[in-house]
Amino acid sequence: MKKNLFGLTLDELTNELTNLKLPKFRAKQIISWIYQRGANSFDQMTDLSKSLRQQLNDNYEIKICKLIDRLDSKDRLTTKFLLEFDDGATVESVLMRHDYGNSICISTQVGCAMGCKFCASTQKGLERNLTSAEIFAEVFFVNEILKQNSERVDSVVIMGIGEPLMNFDNLIKALELIHAEYSLNLSYRKITVSTCGIVPKIYQLAEIDLPITLSISLHAPNNELRSLLMPINNNFNINEVVKAGGDYAKSTGRRVTYEYILISEVNDTTEHARQLIKILSGQLANVNLIPINPIEENNFKRPTKDRIKNFCDLLNAHGLTATIRKEFGVKINAACGQLRSNYLSR
Ligand code: SF4
Repeated sequence: MKKNLFGLTLDELTNELTNLKLPKFRAKQIISWIYQRGANSFDQMTDLSKSLRQQLNDNYEIKICKLIDRLDSKDRLTTKFLLEFDDGATVESVLMRHDYGNSICISTQVGCAMGCKFCASTQKGLERNLTSAEIFAEVFFVNEILKQNSERVDSVVIMGIGEPLMNFDNLIKALELIHAEYSLNLSYRKITVSTCGIVPKIYQLAEIDLPITLSISLHAPNNELRSLLMPINNNFNINEVVKAGGDYAKSTGRRVTYEYILISEVNDTTEHARQLIKILSGQLANVNLIPINPIEENNFKRPTKDRIKNFCDLLNAHGLTATIRKEFGVKINAACGQLRSNYLSR
């Protein structure tokens, strides 16, 4: 079986090529062909001798991922990709064209075990973790498409299918690949990792001290409601999660974003806003309010514009920095996991 070179770091590729007794500079040459010039066959590497290309062909391959489906919003601002890996596993990645650049939201697991009640990605449970190469492939694949119009991926949000911190080592290696100068050369500051609140892993992430943004999905202001919406709250309750967020901000000096999905009559009342203000006051934090994208499998409703605005205004009036997330892709099944769910049902 041929070994796939896609997803190796420069050090790993250098080591790998010692098997063929190739000098170090060859690894740099080959990695630049793959990651910067988008070569998916050794025959494209025209500055390598024919015999070396043959030798590489005999031993290795370059496999990224396959596009299964693609949905573009009417305004062309959002594109949703359904990507397939070697074993047939599928994930979603979403490209959002903001006025400040192209942002991509990527997945880290095939399915999800976390069981959040408002989420389509968890309905069939967790199939498996993505490898670091597969996580990186999502960004790389979309970047290659953007390159055709002389554009690039400007920021990455790890908020798609799966709980990133439950796939910690692969996540960190994928971030390294996205960041590396020999690859996409994207600043860590342009990367956001979102978690539903895996407390020990938040501390582990703080120890690694990468200058990324941490985003915590809170979605409820008290334990009773949060446990109903997010079963993970039974393992790490809201006080532990907010404390971990506060400690992360203190030790890294970086503001934490708290995500709060607004669901009509469930977590969007004035009392909920007051509780949220109480638990987050004094934190180096932003609150990102996300009006829910309803999915067929539950009865959650999106609040009216007035309710959303009132909730947001109340937080801001009490010293929190709250914003309402710009809506992308409601019309193209952009709720997390919806495209994949529809594909699996078909
Ligand atoms: S919201 Fe995120 S953590 Fe929760 S079930 Fe969906 S993918 Fe998993």
